[in-house]
Amino acid sequence: PALAGASSLSAAPCAYVRVVVDIPSRALSEPFTYGVPEELGATALVGATALVPFGSRMALGYICERMDSLPLNGEGSVPHPSRIKCIRDILAAPAFTEQSARIAFWMAREYVASVSECLRLFLPPGGTPRLVRDAKGSYHVEAPATPEAHERWVSLTEEGRSFEPAARAVRQRQVLDALACGPVTTRELRILYTDMSATVRALERRGVVRVEERRAWRGCEDATTLSSANGAAPVALTAGQQEALEAIEHARDDAAGRVIVVDGVTGSGKTEVYLSAIERVLEDGKSAFVLVPEISLTAQTVGRFRSRFGSRVAVFHSRLSAGERRDQWDMVAAGTARVVVGARSALFCPLRNPGIIIIDEEHEQSYKQGSSPRYHAREVAAHMASVYGCPLVLGSATPSSEALARCRAGEYAGQRWLRVCMPERPGAARLPEVTICDLRREFIGGSRSMFSKELREALLGVAERREKAVLLHNRRGFAPFLMCRECGCVPTCKHCSTALTYHERTHTLECHTCGATYRMRPYPAMGSACPKCGSRYLAKMGLGTQQVEDALIQLLPDDVEVIRMDADSTRGKDAHKELLERFDAAECAVLLGTQMIAKGLDFPEVTLAAVVNADYALKMPDFRASERAFDLYEQLAGRAGRGERAGRVIIQTYLPDDPVIRAVATHDRSIFTESDLAQREEAAYPPFVRLTNVVIWGADERACRRYIEELAAAVRAQMGIDNPPPAIGLTPLSEDEGLEPPSSPVLLGPVPCVIERAKDRFRFHFICKTPVGYHVSDCIRAALASVGSREGISLSVDVDAYDLM
Ligand code: ADP
Ligand code: ZN
Ligand code: ZN
Repeated sequence: PALAGASSLSAAPCAYVRVVVDIPSRALSEPFTYGVPEELGATALVGATALVPFGSRMALGYICERMDSLPLNGEGSVPHPSRIKCIRDILAAPAFTEQSARIAFWMAREYVASVSECLRLFLPPGGTPRLVRDAKGSYHVEAPATPEAHERWVSLTEEGRSFEPAARAVRQRQVLDALACGPVTTRELRILYTDMSATVRALERRGVVRVEERRAWRGCEDATTLSSANGAAPVALTAGQQEALEAIEHARDDAAGRVIVVDGVTGSGKTEVYLSAIERVLEDGKSAFVLVPEISLTAQTVGRFRSRFGSRVAVFHSRLSAGERRDQWDMVAAGTARVVVGARSALFCPLRNPGIIIIDEEHEQSYKQGSSPRYHAREVAAHMASVYGCPLVLGSATPSSEALARCRAGEYAGQRWLRVCMPERPGAARLPEVTICDLRREFIGGSRSMFSKELREALLGVAERREKAVLLHNRRGFAPFLMCRECGCVPTCKHCSTALTYHERTHTLECHTCGATYRMRPYPAMGSACPKCGSRYLAKMGLGTQQVEDALIQLLPDDVEVIRMDADSTRGKDAHKELLERFDAAECAVLLGTQMIAKGLDFPEVTLAAVVNADYALKMPDFRASERAFDLYEQLAGRAGRGERAGRVIIQTYLPDDPVIRAVATHDRSIFTESDLAQREEAAYPPFVRLTNVVIWGADERACRRYIEELAAAVRAQMGIDNPPPAIGLTPLSEDEGLEPPSSPVLLGPVPCVIERAKDRFRFHFICKTPVGYHVSDCIRAALASVGSREGISLSVDVDAYDLM
C-alpha cells in the first residue's frame, strides 16, 4: 500500500510507545518515544512493527514498551510532549514480548550491537517488512512473503460409513480403506496409491466423503525415528540421572534462574534426564527450550523428542525451507508447540512461559554466532533464565572451561552455578577401552600405511564380526594445499593472503576466503608446476578424506560398506540424513568422516571408533585447541560400545604424551582439565579474562591504519590505560603482554590481522583483554561514538571472541 508522506496531528495521542528505529547504527541504543493516534490505539502493541517518521524520512520501528501517559520528569530521550511525533501505521502484528525486548537490549549492550539487529532475531522467519520509496516520494512496504500452505483433508461423512461401493469401483474401495482409521490428506492418498482427486470428487458428490481445506504444518514430517533411537516409553532412571533430575527440580524454585551443569560421560543418559525434566515442566503448564548443536540436529535426536512429546515439539534447523520454518514458528506462537528443539537461534522463537532452558553439548563452538550480533547462546540463555526465573541446564561430556570455572566459584553474574556428575553409563554399556598408537614407532618400523597394524586388525575384526565402525579424519584448518619442494613456495590467493586449497577432481586451486579459482599451470608430462620457480615438485600436504576412503576400500572386504561423510558428500538438503540412514541400515559398515561424525550419533552396533591422525587438532594455533581436541576425541570415543557389545577406541598420534591424549586414553578428564585451566589462569586467557576482538577492513590500507590507531587510542582512553599507543606493527600480540595480571584491562595491538588481506580488503585488529565483570562493551561503544565511523571501512566487534585471527 502507498503511505502518505505528510504528517497531520489532529488529536492528542491516546497512548505513547517506545520504538526502536530500524536503521543501521551501532550508536543508536535508545528507543524513541512516539505518540499513538486514536485509530492505531488497538494495534500499536508491544512487539508490533510500526512505520514512524524519523528525521526527514520514514523508517521501520519495533514497539518495545507502551505507556498510557508520558513519564513526568522525562528521562534522557523523552522530548517535550509538543515535539513528540506520532507513529503512522502498524505494518506487522506483535511478534515479541516486553521481556524479549529487554533481552534484546541486554544483548545489544553486551555485544556492542544495535538494538534493532538484536530485536530482529525475535521476528518471525521470512524477514522483516522492507520500506521502499518510489520515484514520487511515497513509501511502500514490501512485506516478506512466505505464504501459509494448505492441505485438503478427506474424511468419511455420517452416511459414508455405511456406503458400499460397486465391485468394479476399485479406486473407491481404496479411498474408503484409507479413510477407515480417520481423515487423510489428498497428498497422503497420492503417496499411498496414485492421484485420487477424481475419485474423491465423485465420492464427495454422493455425500460419502467431506473435503476440507486446513492449514498445513510443514516441517513436522521429520518424525521418522531411526530404528536405534528410543521408543516413547520413559526408562527407569539410574541413581546418577535421578540426582541430576532432582537438582533441576530444585532449581525450578529459584527465582534467580539457577544454572545446572550436567557433566556426564557420553552415553550416560543426559538426554533421558532432559526428557524427564521437560515432562515435569509441561505438567506445570510451562514450556521448554532445547538447544542442540546444528550438526547433531539429526532425525535421530529430533525423533527422540518427537516420540516422547509428539506434536508438541517444534524443530528449527538450517535445513528447513522458509515455509517449514514459518509453520514451526507459528505453531510455537499459537502455543500448540511447547517444546522447541533447535540450533542456537531457536532461543528467539516466541515460546510462552518457559519453564526450562536446556543446552546440550554446551561446550560446542557453534553456539557462538559468527556475524553481528555475535552472541553466545550460553550467555544469552543464562540471562534469559534470570529474566524468566527458570533453570538453565547445560549438558556436556566435556564442559567448557567457562562452565567449570563458574561452577567452581559457585556463582556468576548473580546466578548460582552447580555441577552434577554422571560418570557411568546405564545398564550393561561400558566406557570403551582406548588404545594409543604411536605413529613414530610405526614409521621407524618401516610402515608407509596411514593405518597402523593395530587399526588394520581392528577394522578387519569389525568386518569379520559383521559390526560397525566410525573413523574420524579430522582436517579442519588443514585442507590439502600444495608446497613446492624446490623453493618452499605455497601458492596463495591474489586477493587474500591465504594458502590455496588443492582440489584433485578439478585439478584447481581454490581460495576458501573469497572463492577465487585458479587453474594449475600445466607442465609437460607432470600436469602441474610451481607458480614461482616452475619446478615440477609440487607436493600435496594434508590427506583428504577421499584418500582415506580409497585406503579403506582397499583394505576391507567388498561386502563392507564404506560411507564417507564430509562437507563434499553432505551438500544436498537431506544428504546428511540419508548417509546416516544408509549406515543404520547396513549390516556391516564403516562411517568415515570429518568432525561431523564424532557428535551425537547413537548406534549400538558400533564397536570401533578410531582417529586416523589425532595431531591435526592438537596443533591448531589457538589457546582453545586442547579443549577442542579433547572434546572431539572424547565425543568420538563415546560413539563406541553404546549397546551390549563392548567398544574399542584407537587413536593414532605422533604425540602420545600430550595431556589431551593421556586424558582420553584413561577416561580421566582431570589430567587434562586441571592442567588446561591452570595454564590459562597463568597466561591470563579465558575463562579468567575476556577477550574482545575489534577488527576493521577496507580497500585503503593507509586509511585503515589511521582509523584503527585512532579507535584503539579512544578505547585505551575509555579504559583508563594511559600509555601512549605505539605506532602500528610495533606492539605484537605477544605472550609477555598476556602475562599481565588479569585485574586490569589490557589492549593488545593494533596490528594487521593474521589474514592481512581478504577480498582485496586490508584487515587490522586489536584485542581487549579485560577482567571478568569489566564493562568492556561500554568502553568500546563510547570509543566508537567519539571516533565515529569512516566511509569505506567496515568494523566488527567480537566480545568473547573465539576467532582471534
Ligand atoms: P547421552 O545423552 O548422555 O549421550 P543418552 O540419553 O543418549 O545419553 O543415553 C545413551 C543410551 O542409554 C541410550 O540408548 C538410552 O536409551 C540409554 N539409557 C539412558 N538412560 C537409561 C536408563 N536409565 N536405563 C537404561 N537405558 C538408558
Ligand atoms: Zn581469495
Ligand atoms: Zn617452486
